Order: sequence, then structure tokens, then C-alpha cells
Amino acid sequence: MIFSENLSSIRQRIAAACARAGRDENSVTLLAVSKSHPPEAIQAAVDCGQIFFGENKIQEAKAKIPLCPGKARWQFIGHLQSNKVRDAVELFELIQGVDSLAIAKEISKRAEQAAKTMPILLEVNVAGEGSKFGYAPEKLLAELAELNALPRIEVHGLMAIPPYAPIAEKARPYFQKLHGLKIECEKILGAPLPQLSMGMSGDFEVAIEEGATIVRVGTALFGERMSNVRRME
Ligand SMILES: *Cc1c(COP(=O)(O)O)cnc(C)c1O
Repeated sequence: MIFSENLSSIRQRIAAACARAGRDENSVTLLAVSKSHPPEAIQAAVDCGQIFFGENKIQEAKAKIPLCPGKARWQFIGHLQSNKVRDAVELFELIQGVDSLAIAKEISKRAEQAAKTMPILLEVNVAGEGSKFGYAPEKLLAELAELNALPRIEVHGLMAIPPYAPIAEKARPYFQKLHGLKIECEKILGAPLPQLSMGMSGDFEVAIEEGATIVRVGTALFGERMSNVRRME
């Protein structure tokens, strides 16, 4: 298994990006995106000291998480449908990718039933792509106060998936845009938002330079996914 080598290489690259940006390397959480990989792969990752894992499909997570080591901690990074919210609240400690008041209300309701408070990140469609999920920035700013007032969710920050580009540098303006939007949100809320989830295998270093606190890395840790053949992200 080359996971250990991949992990130490990614960790070094995170540390170097943090150093370039004058940031503490502990200010970045490496989320290992384990979608499509079996419990054995997660076990191997946990054995190497990896703690945080990201999944984007509720059905897959529901089947897989019970078979994985209890030390693994899980974040949802996919698009959530309201009929899956109850499972998501049960399975995950952070739900990234919330992009409507309706879903946020459903999360709050289900969290209350589960006697929990659910941390969430709000997804922003930073490039205004018609094919992508996520809030338009203006809509996010307009709904933020109402989102934040929901009793059983805590807005912890923003996430985005910029357009795919083979050159990492191309994503930089989108990362800057998301960071700027976080600052605007903090002004509206009058409180800091701790998390900025941005950067994937191809561009996490640029994301860190622009303030990412969570980088979501799949391929560079676990290798290619079978589903990459028909990449529909
Ligand atoms: C799959 C996925 C990732 C990881 O992508 P890689 O390019 O394999 O690192 C990150 N974020 C989200 C939301 C994903 O769905």
C-alpha cells in the first residue's frame, strides 16, 4: 500500500504551502476523500494516522462507515437531498455543501430530533456555473442571517468546488473570491467563521495560500477512482 507515502508527501506539501503563506500547518485539516474506496483503504489510512474522511453519497456512507474503524471521523461533502438528511445527521460530524434554506431547515429539524447541533458549511457556486450546485453569492448574503438563526445548525464557514482546470493557478481567483465572501459573511454575522473548505488533489496548495482551512484530497491520497472514467463532479 502506497497510502503512507502519499500521505507523507501531501502533508509535506501542506506544510510547505503553509510556510509560504506564513500560516501554522496545524491550521489546515486534511480531509481524505474516500468515496468509492473500500473500508480496507480507510483502515490503512487510519493506521497511518489519518483521522478525517469525506464521503459524497449517503447510501455508500451508510453501508461503509459501520465497517470502518471508530477512530475515523466523517464529513459529508456531496449534494444533500432532503430525504437523506436524517441519515446525514446521524453519520457525519460536519455537513459541507449546504446550499439552500430548505435543506438547512431540514438539517436543523432532524438534528433536533437526534438531540444534536449540526455544524455545516455553506456551498458557494463561485464561478456561477449553471451545471453546479451552490449558492449564488448574493443569495447567500441575503439568506445568511436566517440560516444562522436556525436553532440546531451552526454555520462554520464556506466551501466551494471551482471549475476544473488542469492548471492549479487558474483556481486562485475563485479561492480568493470565496475567502472574500467569508469576510463579508463574518461582517453580517458579527462573528468569525472558522472554516474555508477549498482545494482538491490538483490545487490544494494554491487553496492553502488563499486561506483554506480544510483541503479535500482524494486521488492524490488513494489513487484514481474507478468512477473517474466518467467524471461528473
Ligand atoms: C471527489 C471530491 C473531492 C476530491 O477530489 P480529488 O480530485 O480526487 O482530490 C473533493 N471535493 C469534493 C466535493 C469531491 O466530490
